[in-house]
Amino acid sequence: MIGGHTASITYLRLSVTDRCDLRCAYCMPERMEFLPRSEILSLDELDQMASAFIRLGITKLRLTGGEPLVRKGFVELVAGLSRHLGNGLDELVITTNGTRLAEHAEALARYGVRRINVSIDSLIPEHYARITRGGDLARVIAGVDAAIAAGIAVKINSVALANDNLGEVVALADWAQQRGAAISFIEVMPLGEVEANRIDQHVPMTEVRRRLSERWSLTPIALDTGGPARYVRTDAGGTIGFITPLSDNFCGSCNRVRVTCTGQLYLCLGQDARIDLRDILRSGDEVALETAITQAMRKKPLAHDFLIAPTRIQGVERHMSMTGG
Ligand code: SAM
Ligand code: SF4
Repeated sequence: MIGGHTASITYLRLSVTDRCDLRCAYCMPERMEFLPRSEILSLDELDQMASAFIRLGITKLRLTGGEPLVRKGFVELVAGLSRHLGNGLDELVITTNGTRLAEHAEALARYGVRRINVSIDSLIPEHYARITRGGDLARVIAGVDAAIAAGIAVKINSVALANDNLGEVVALADWAQQRGAAISFIEVMPLGEVEANRIDQHVPMTEVRRRLSERWSLTPIALDTGGPARYVRTDAGGTIGFITPLSDNFCGSCNRVRVTCTGQLYLCLGQDARIDLRDILRSGDEVALETAITQAMRKKPLAHDFLIAPTRIQGVERHMSMTGG
């Protein structure tokens, strides 16, 4: 697919809902206001949107949210989209908080989902419940195990938080490794207002890496996903990623764009600029939709505008749950 400055854009992250059954403290405020349902694309519209991108050359589709598995009919959406696998689409993947994965893992595997990212920021049930404001760790672990049992490769996502889980990074990596799952540590990004101060939450990945390297020797591996993650292999055979959008940026090789559940196309997670595709989609004119997408792609920006410095934060207004991870 045509891009702007960058390598061609082949990866779409589509958010299927802004709603969530958790309220992670770094992601959204406790009293998060969700969008009215009329603004949200229907399942048919989500399918049409994804299908237009696939016709234009997207080969990897990630369904995310909010929490994708709380969207009614989500498994049916996956079932429908699976028709593109092998017909333009190489990969259909999901990012989930895992609370409902145990019920759905088998069906997702049946419809061609081979990889799932599950977010777990702590393995101590009380800490997990505090960070997620009420999440039940045991259910999420059951979800991870169900996905692995169904033959789905799991990657754990952990946001590194200065005052919450920094002391747990080795335990998290060890736990993932023992299950044969990769793990990525993510720097907290200044997306939307939350109660906590982003400067207090932020930990540079160099600190996470330092702690892990006290336990394992870490060898960089070439696993370029076209995103801001860099991977290492531990001497125990585990795979660990570091996602460093703030302290490093790899915007030049970025291959992805995002569409929200209201049909807004964001060319960069770290910028507010967006293109509204919902009305064009709802007009039913497929050619107009494809033209709008193609024209938008040429405008992909050079780099994000994020910054968390000791005295200053520069982020964007929307929460991560709008555009998905
Ligand atoms: N609900 C699903 C989940 O939690 O995996 C999918 C959506 S969630 C917005 C996607 C990813 O974004 C999660 O791994 C989450 O930890 C991460 N995330 C949310 N807010 C973030 C922030 N402000 N900075 C960095 N990562 C964030
Ligand atoms: Fe929900 Fe995911 Fe945001 Fe947590 S990170 S509140 S699970 S959308």
